[in-house]
Amino acid sequence: MSELHKFLFEGLPVRGVLVRLTDSWQTVLAKRAANAETGAYPQAVRALLGEMTAAAVLMQANIKFNGALVLQMMGEGPLKLAVVEVQSDMRFRATAKTIGAVHDGMGLADMANQRNLGRCAITLDPLGRRPGQQPYQGVVPLYDDQGQAIKRFSDVLAHYMLQSEQLDTTLVLAANDETAAGLLIQRLPMHGAANLAGKQSMADEDQIGLNEDYNRIATLAQSLTSDELLTLSTDKILHRLFWQETLRRFEPELGEDAPRFSCSCNRDRVSNMLRGLGEEEANSILAERALIEVGCDFCGQQYRYDAVDSAQLFAQSDIQPPGPSALQ
Ligand SMILES: [Zn+2]
Repeated sequence: MSELHKFLFEGLPVRGVLVRLTDSWQTVLAKRAANAETGAYPQAVRALLGEMTAAAVLMQANIKFNGALVLQMMGEGPLKLAVVEVQSDMRFRATAKTIGAVHDGMGLADMANQRNLGRCAITLDPLGRRPGQQPYQGVVPLYDDQGQAIKRFSDVLAHYMLQSEQLDTTLVLAANDETAAGLLIQRLPMHGAANLAGKQSMADEDQIGLNEDYNRIATLAQSLTSDELLTLSTDKILHRLFWQETLRRFEPELGEDAPRFSCSCNRDRVSNMLRGLGEEEANSILAERALIEVGCDFCGQQYRYDAVDSAQLFAQSDIQPPGPSALQ
């Protein structure tokens, strides 16, 4: 079963989160594999999307943002798009779109960052956002300060956290077809809330890379191998890495509170999207085939409209414009 654990290092300005997604991650993969239109993701995409999913859950758990955290990769290469959305109650969904061949074991740079043109975006979309209110978004390239392509997705996010939030963050991520898992270690800000959108003081900036306790704990965390992260229990991992530290662990999020797959698509939203396309477009599709079929990229659910459904769609007076984003 999927689980999430938070902990503090007693007396030190360092905290951590560990997540293991098992049944919920397998559901994401199974739904995709069952989608007759797309088929299963290639192996390299499964590995990256799993790491992204673990990372997005870790970040949402870390900032406790009241709304959706969306982690998005706009790739240059065969991986065109990868999206993970995590709600504050830890429901999540994920999808990816590829065009062209993805070889087994293909790395981040070849798959999504050719000519250093890939981008990663982190969006915080508050619950009950007012029309016209823009969600907070940060966008980072997939290369480092020296212009070198970043090889591991965990380093993309650590780079982002340092650049935009002045927070030292270490991430260890791993995924296979059974488990997507991650460990996040972060130096706590000296002042104010450790919020992505928060402001940090100069004292925090001065501490970057210099806090001995954080550096020691980060080094320990980085010694965790993918194999250990994917196969060992949480207790074993924390003991193996931090047995010389004093950990204060919080009540884990298990069972119903655990991170879990959930898709928020429904027929009303698809209907609105079709209304946005317009009656003419809908009729031209129906002229060629008996049904308008719209599949959800996240869960594979198919929504079908025949000529009668379509006519009703455009006959209704309560026409709403489509949402500002395809994720709505
Ligand atoms: Zn769906």
